[in-house]
Amino acid sequence: MNRISRRLFLLSIPAALGGVYFWNKRKKWKYIVVHHSAGSSGNLKFLKNVHKERFPYSKYMAYHFLIGNGKGMKEGEIAYGKRWKNQIWGAHVSYRNKFKNYSGIGICMIGNFEKYKMGEKQYQGMFSLIKYLKIKYKIDSNNVLFHGKIHKEQTLCPGKNFPYERLIKDIKKS
Ligand SMILES: [Zn+2]
Repeated sequence: MNRISRRLFLLSIPAALGGVYFWNKRKKWKYIVVHHSAGSSGNLKFLKNVHKERFPYSKYMAYHFLIGNGKGMKEGEIAYGKRWKNQIWGAHVSYRNKFKNYSGIGICMIGNFEKYKMGEKQYQGMFSLIKYLKIKYKIDSNNVLFHGKIHKEQTLCPGKNFPYERLIKDIKKS
């Protein structure tokens, strides 16, 4: 083993330990993070390509779930990607909040709620999915988060017209 490969080998040890640590962390879903796609239409394939443009080696979209707005998917339709199927971490918040990627279920609402309002069917799809995940993984209501409202995230996501108050109220009741 030469000096460089020895160094790479030694460096790989903390990386592997970190991987094992996060493997255990992310097995427990602790957060739900809600996003919007910021585009007018979308589906699994489209969102997968959006992520691939930023991260060419990625085979997955950034989120675990998508909820359609009637353009590309039916309004209120729930779809899940391979991250959910394989129960792996998300890539929907910045590295500054990496724990919310490792242990946060990313739900992306198709649409741009900075510009438009959410349809009722899409709202109901979102609410039913969050309610289901909250009960199944015993996630606290306070851990249902909105991307741009997470400390240190610099984004308007999921937009000023997103029904924050209604959703928080419905979640706390459920
Ligand atoms: Zn977002």
